[in-house]
Amino acid sequence: HSDRLKSAFLANMSHEIRTPLNAIVGFSSLLTATENETERKEFISIIETNNQLLLQLVSDILDLSKIEANTLEFNYQNVDLNQLAKDVENTVRGRLQTGVALQFVPEVPVCYVQTEHNRLSQVLINLLVNAAKFTEKGEIMFGYKIRGEELYFYVKDTGIGISLENQKKIFERFTKVNTFIQGTGLGLSICKNIVTKMKGRIGVESEGEGKGSTFWFTIPYKPKEAQKENNLTLMPLLNERSKEKPIILIAEDNESNYMLFKSILQKDYELVHAWDGEEAVELHQKFHPHVVIMDINMPKMDGYEATREIRKVSKTVPIIAVTAYSFASDKEKIMQNGFNGYMSKPVDIQRLKEKLDYTIHGNFMMM
Ligand code: ADP
Repeated sequence: HSDRLKSAFLANMSHEIRTPLNAIVGFSSLLTATENETERKEFISIIETNNQLLLQLVSDILDLSKIEANTLEFNYQNVDLNQLAKDVENTVRGRLQTGVALQFVPEVPVCYVQTEHNRLSQVLINLLVNAAKFTEKGEIMFGYKIRGEELYFYVKDTGIGISLENQKKIFERFTKVNTFIQGTGLGLSICKNIVTKMKGRIGVESEGEGKGSTFWFTIPYKPKEAQKENNLTLMPLLNERSKEKPIILIAEDNESNYMLFKSILQKDYELVHAWDGEEAVELHQKFHPHVVIMDINMPKMDGYEATREIRKVSKTVPIIAVTAYSFASDKEKIMQNGFNGYMSKPVDIQRLKEKLDYTIHGNFMMM
């Protein structure tokens, strides 16, 4: 029985990976063949959409395998729920279809609770992105209420709705009601797993097709006191914008990945490239860069060791780790090994620029 499930899972996976990959590979090669500007733009936009889908799939699969292995991390801390909701709202805003409104409905003026910040955001974002995907007009509202010993969260949309029959199935893996709408069919099953791990329940209500849906979940309510914010560290590097470009040392063994950094950064920074950890240590000595961007997996000497070597001579140079692995445990290991920041590949270009700008000019570094 479990073998059959495994085969079905793999067949599904293979299909889900090949579909976007097919579009990416196909349109990339068409791109080189056409000179027509409108066509190029169209192809690029298709490629980008499918890139996103593939990325989502990879991160869903990682989560799923961590859930299976029971190693998904849950770090409980004091969380400001209204702040979390606002952050989530901002994250999802860009995913709405035109004309659809998104609104967080604040009902509890101040609410600090002991909970898992990242997992809670993940579930909310997942439900909201689904709502955005299946809502063409009207609005999406979300919020939370305190109900005795429980917190009750809801995401309500005016979208296509879900039939009673399908409501029972959608929390299972790879279930999609409409196979033509982009998605992996994994989101809700991950949400269900997470909510269950957090000792809550999840469900959906819908009057049926065309009548919108309300997804809801609960988690235990454990109130906390408000906390003082003090996670900003002052890091003066260049006091004024100096005339010369700041130097960034990039340790990266993969040529395409270095080319990507170069295309993004060469306009504003002087770049020094190291092909491995050993070279990174040498070039750091020679150029005294303002910032180091450090890949983790490199030949000869990896990013951890190179960072330890650099830390022997400079305690202060900001070193940002960049890695293709994206487990939360890697992040912890990285933060304990002398790095100042962390980004996972694929690099979010805008965030990288902001991070560097803060680090070098803004004198602030979010830790
Ligand atoms: P997917 O990645 O396909 O969205 P999910 O597990 O998140 O995977 O959702 C499974 C299916 O449930 C979707 O494909 C869709 O058919 C249905 N669904 C989820 N959210 C909504 C919603 N807000 N409105 C209508 N249908 C939804």
